[in-house]
Amino acid sequence: MVRALMSYAEGSWVGGQGSAAEARSAVSGEVLALVSAGGLDMAAMLRHARSKGGPALRAMTFHQRAELLKRLAQHLNAHKDVLYGLSYDTGATRADSWIDIEGGIGTVFTFASKGKRELPNEPFLIDGEVEALSKNGTFIGQHAYIPREGVMVQINAFNFPIWGMLEKLAPAILAGMPVIAKPATSTAWLAEAAVKLIIESNILPEGALQFICGSTGDLFEHLTGQDMVGFTGSAATSAKLQAHPRILANAVPFVAERDSLNCSILGPDAKPGTPEFDLYIKEVAREMTTKAGQKCTAIRRILVPATQSDAVIAALSERLAKTRIGDPRLETTRMGALASLDQRRDVRAQIDKLRKEAELVFGNPDSISVDGADGEKGAFLSPILLAARNPLAGEAIHAVEAFGPVATLMPYRDLDEAITLANRGEGSLVGSLVTHDAEVARHVVFGAGAFHGRMLVLDRDCAAESTGHGSPMPHLIHGGPGRAGGGEELGGIRAVKHHMRRIALQGSPAMIGTVLKSWIKGAPEITKEEHPFRYVFGDLTIGQTFRSKRRVVTLEDIEHFAHFTGDTFYAHMDEEAVKGHPFFPGRVAHGYLLLAFAAGLFVEPAKGPVLANYGLDNLRFLKPVEPGTAIHVRLSVKNKAPRNAEYGEVRWDVEIYDDADNTVATYQLLTMNAL
Ligand code: NAP
Repeated sequence: MVRALMSYAEGSWVGGQGSAAEARSAVSGEVLALVSAGGLDMAAMLRHARSKGGPALRAMTFHQRAELLKRLAQHLNAHKDVLYGLSYDTGATRADSWIDIEGGIGTVFTFASKGKRELPNEPFLIDGEVEALSKNGTFIGQHAYIPREGVMVQINAFNFPIWGMLEKLAPAILAGMPVIAKPATSTAWLAEAAVKLIIESNILPEGALQFICGSTGDLFEHLTGQDMVGFTGSAATSAKLQAHPRILANAVPFVAERDSLNCSILGPDAKPGTPEFDLYIKEVAREMTTKAGQKCTAIRRILVPATQSDAVIAALSERLAKTRIGDPRLETTRMGALASLDQRRDVRAQIDKLRKEAELVFGNPDSISVDGADGEKGAFLSPILLAARNPLAGEAIHAVEAFGPVATLMPYRDLDEAITLANRGEGSLVGSLVTHDAEVARHVVFGAGAFHGRMLVLDRDCAAESTGHGSPMPHLIHGGPGRAGGGEELGGIRAVKHHMRRIALQGSPAMIGTVLKSWIKGAPEITKEEHPFRYVFGDLTIGQTFRSKRRVVTLEDIEHFAHFTGDTFYAHMDEEAVKGHPFFPGRVAHGYLLLAFAAGLFVEPAKGPVLANYGLDNLRFLKPVEPGTAIHVRLSVKNKAPRNAEYGEVRWDVEIYDDADNTVATYQLLTMNAL
C-alpha cells in the first residue's frame, strides 16, 4: 500500500483527510506517496506557533538560538544517509543531492556560526550609531531590530526540498520566529523525512517548526502583519498568493523567489584557446545538467560574441554529448531525471515556445537514451541547446523559463548589446561574466548589475576556488529584482534582519541605553572604587567609567615617536611644510601616538581579568593635537557579550580630550575579559 505523508501540526504528526495528490518517483514513475493536508486546522497551527514556538524562541538570545541551529545541523549531518537514500527518486544524482542535503545542512551551520560570532548574546540587535537629535544631548535616537511576534510561513519549490527549507528555516529560527513549512507536493516525501529528523531530535522548542504536507487550505486567511511569507516557486503562483486580500490588507511581508532567465556572458577577450573560453564551456554545461537544469540559478541564456557563436556551439555540444544520463543511483550517471513527468511535460511545452524564436542545435526533446531506467516512464530529458540568431528581436527567449536542462545561445555584436540582452531578462537571480579583462567586467557590472541579484566574474585567477554561477551562498544575498520576484534571502546576518522589525527608539541616553543594554554618551557614568580592569566580566557594570589623569604631549614625544616608529610624516616633523595646511595649525601629534598615550593613561597594568586587547572599532580623529596639549581619557563599559565558558568580549567607549575638554578622538575598544 502506498504510504500517506504526514503533516506535523500542533505538536503531533497527522495524516490528511479526503482526496490526496500522488507523489511519484522521477526515475520509475511509480507512485511513492500520497499527499494531503485535508482536515488540518490552519488557524490552530498559527495559534500554536504564536503561543508556543514564538515565545519559547523569543525568550532565548541569538547565541542560544545559534546553539540550537548548530545542534540541529550536527543531528541532520549524522543522519544524512537517510536523506541521500530517499533523494534518488527525486531524479537527483548523488552530486545533485549533495547540493540539496549538505548544502542545506551547511547553510544551517553557517547561520549557527554567524549567529555566535556576529550577533550579540541578546534577543535584539542595535542597528547603526546613536543619532544626535538635540543640542544638549539629552534626547537621542537609536535604531534596533526586535523579534517579530508572528510566524514565518514558507512555501517551497520542488527542486531543493531540503536546502530550500533549511535556508529559510535557519535565519528565521535565529531571528526568533517560528516556522510553518510547506513543501512542493512532487518531492514532499524528502522534505517530510528531513522534518521527521528535526522533530525527533527534540532540539527545537515545541511550536518552532510545523509542517504542512499538502495544500495550505485557508492558512492565508489567518495571517497578520506580524507574520511573513517566504515563497519559492513560479511567478504565476507567487502573483496569486501575493495578491491575497489578507496579505494586502495586513501588509504581510512577502519574500518571493521565482522565475529567472539567468544569463552568462562570454567576454570578447575570452576567445577559443584562452583559459576563460574553456571555463565558460565547462560552467555552462555544468549549469545545464546539474540537477537536470532544475536550479533557479541555472544558466538559461548564453550570451556570446557573434564571432564566437559557432565555436561555442561546437564546444558545448561536444561536452553535452559526453553527459551520461540515467538512473541517478548509477555511479556513471552525470544527469538524472526531472522531478516528475508533469515537470517534463511543462519543460517540453516551454521548449516548443522557445523554438519559435530559436533553432535546436543540440539534443532531442522527444527521445533520449537512458542508462538503467526507462526513458519514458521516468522523467528523463536530453540536454537541449537552442540558438537564437536574432536575439534582440526575441520575446519568448527572454521570458520563458524552461525549468530543465535547456539553454538558449544568443550572439551579441558588442558589449553594450550583451548588456541589453542580459537586462532583457527583466530581473534575474544571477548573471555571470567570463572575462580576464577588468574593463569588460566594470562595464558589464555597472551596465547589468541593477538587473541581477548576484554577479559572478569568472576568470583563470578564481576558477579553481570559485563556487560557480549557480550556487547561492549563505553569506551572500540570494534573490533578484523584477521577474525574479524582488525578494532577498540569505546574505549572512542580513537574512536574520529580514525576519525582525526595525524600530526607531527615541528618548534620553540613559533610558534608551538601559533598554538596549548599551551605554550611550550622555547617560550617567558609574564610578566604582577600583579601576574597571580589576573587575571580572560578570562584575563589570554597563556605564562603569574610568577617567584618567592628564598627560602633556610634547614636541620631544612627537619626535621620539616619529623616529621610533619610522612615521616621520611631514605634518608631525616639518614646520615649514605644514604651513598653509587645510587642517593643521602647525606640527601636530600622530593619531597613533594619541592612541598609545591613551592606553598608557587608562591601562591598569597588573595581571587581572583583562586577557587581551582585540581591536578598535569606529576610530575617528576629530581635532588635531598640538605639542604642549594636556590630553586625558574617558573609558566606559559600553556593552558586553559572553564568548565561551572562560571569557567574554567587553566593548569600551573611549574618548580622548584636550585641555579644553574638546573631544580629539573617539573609538570603541574591544577586550576579552575573564568571566
Ligand atoms: P509552483 O507551482 O509555483 O509551486 C511552488 C510552491 O507553491 C509549491 O510548494 C506549491 O505547492 C505551492 N503552491 C502552489 N499553489 C499554491 C496555492 N494556491 N497556495 C499555496 N501554495 C501553493 O512552482 P514549481 O513549478 O513547483 O517550481 C518551479 C518554479 O520555481 C520555477 O519557475 C523556478 O524558477 C522557481 N524557483 C525559484 C527559485 C528561487 O530561489 N528564485 C528556486 C527554485 C525554484 P504544490 O506543489 O503542493 O502545488
